Amino acid sequence: MTKKDNLLKAIKDKIWNLKESPLYDYRKKNNYLPVIGEGNHDAKIIFIGEAPGENEAKTGRPFCGAAGKVLDNLLISEGIKREEVYITNIVKDRPPGNRDPLPEEIDLYSPFLLEQIEIIKPKIIATLGRFSMSFIMNKFDVQGKNDTISKNHEKVFKTKTSFGEIKIIPLYHPAVALYNNSSKKNLEEDFKIFKRIKI
Ligand code: URA
Repeated sequence: MTKKDNLLKAIKDKIWNLKESPLYDYRKKNNYLPVIGEGNHDAKIIFIGEAPGENEAKTGRPFCGAAGKVLDNLLISEGIKREEVYITNIVKDRPPGNRDPLPEEIDLYSPFLLEQIEIIKPKIIATLGRFSMSFIMNKFDVQGKNDTISKNHEKVFKTKTSFGEIKIIPLYHPAVALYNNSSKKNLEEDFKIFKRIKI
């Protein structure tokens, strides 16, 4: 195991035992798993979603249900291998009935996400959906942080981090493509950015 593997494993252990989480009892009662994240520990791109859905909580894998299929196809269309990137969420346990994550859940789980980012040291953070966009843009204090996803989704934001300059790319959540054709088109267009920018 590399140093990065060990550091990421320590985060996993903490989340597995996160009894203070308001989602912990729901996880246990339903035999769900926390969804920590998966992919390349040296990834240049991290994709960050919102919170696990039911399929994810059953398997412990991010984006493995219907929205995951959309994400997989978008990655394929840009020639990106899923195992090249790292995929995770802000909230690591499934909120009941797939409701939106609560502010206190984001507060509790987001430090783990920030640790994951610090360890992996990506060049690009691609946010999926408005919760992830808002959290990351506020955290890195990026201009446009108070704008809506419909305004920000075509843009690339640069910011400085402790491990150098990175780009933040706000994208719509892949789940919107399941029920909104124009959002699907937007997502497909937006994903072309990965071919255009130099990583
Ligand atoms: N939606 C998310 O935001 N994350 C997942 O892992 C799956 C669906």
